[in-house]
Amino acid sequence: MIPLSKPFIGPEEKAAVLSVLESGMLAQGPVTAALESRFASACGVKHAIATSSGTTALHVALLAHGIGPGDEVITTPFTFIASANSILFTGATPVFVDIDPVTFNIDPDQVARAVTPRTKAIMPVHLYGYLSDMDALMSVARTHGLAMVEDACQAIGAAYDGKAAGSFGTGAFSLYATKNVMSAEGGMITTDDDTVAERCRMIRSHGMTRRYYHDLLGYNYRTSDVHAAIGLAQINRLDAVTDRRRRNAEFLNGAINSVVTPSVKPKHTHAWHQYTVRVDRGRDRDAAVAQLNQAGIGTGVFYPVPVHRQGYMRDIVGDINLPVSEQMAREVISLPVHPQLSQADLETIAAEVNTL
Ligand SMILES: *Cc1c(COP(=O)(O)O)cnc(C)c1O
Repeated sequence: MIPLSKPFIGPEEKAAVLSVLESGMLAQGPVTAALESRFASACGVKHAIATSSGTTALHVALLAHGIGPGDEVITTPFTFIASANSILFTGATPVFVDIDPVTFNIDPDQVARAVTPRTKAIMPVHLYGYLSDMDALMSVARTHGLAMVEDACQAIGAAYDGKAAGSFGTGAFSLYATKNVMSAEGGMITTDDDTVAERCRMIRSHGMTRRYYHDLLGYNYRTSDVHAAIGLAQINRLDAVTDRRRRNAEFLNGAINSVVTPSVKPKHTHAWHQYTVRVDRGRDRDAAVAQLNQAGIGTGVFYPVPVHRQGYMRDIVGDINLPVSEQMAREVISLPVHPQLSQADLETIAAEVNTL
């Protein structure tokens, strides 16, 4: 089986973890600080704040911007559930608008139309490692004085016009085991705003300023130096890993002709977290998935049910219709694109996909 994703653990990760274990200092400490500093420079921002997961990074980022009950946050339904859940955790309401069928990302015109007096933030998701239309979204945010919280969980290494994901507003990243840079579990917040950064650090650790003095309600959303050691070894390979993913994606784009392949607009650096094709024109996506799996090719469907159609979310936002998201949920298949694929793997994938 050619797996859809395969975490790479090199000698650097093993040595780094062992060194933390032998130091006897396991909790969040100097290795986490080193990872934060490396992450901030990779994203071209002043501050990076490590958390226990991408989900907690999103939650903390929203809280740091003062989002809470009565507020609305405009976001995409075509994402992992954590994006919208983090909004619900704050007591705010997610407002879902539809996506662009080419980029799979939120449509800025629909965002602009969804703004109400209660809107406090926009949360775009840079799905599959491809930046949302940030020029247009930032312009809506500026016009209405809204916070920008980027769900960049899949987008480490992605950029638009040389500007990294997570550097437009406040970014939230995931270091979950399958992400391009991972620490088994973990997250990261990025920002240039000193006040937001300070609030994030406090909220991450029970609102603490100095030991056992607590200025606001916070959580234990810290990571550990054991996890950070893995992340640090991984982020040192970021450029090589992104480059390899890009070359794999370019090969697949050139070789596949049976389904709709992903396109990259000028000025975009795609991080290729996922390589996602569309089985369009009413063809049976699930049969295609079964055929590929039968042929030994791992696949993913991200995501089969748009967030507004999930049971409990429906009770909150009602029976809304977002046709592009719903169509994409029926058509997408993600294929392996990770750096450990061989040329033979890539050829096998393309040949099998071309029989669909
Ligand atoms: C992975 C992911 C998250 C959540 O990250 P965790 O580390 O699993 O909590 C949130 N949003 C998106 C788009 C993701 O892909």
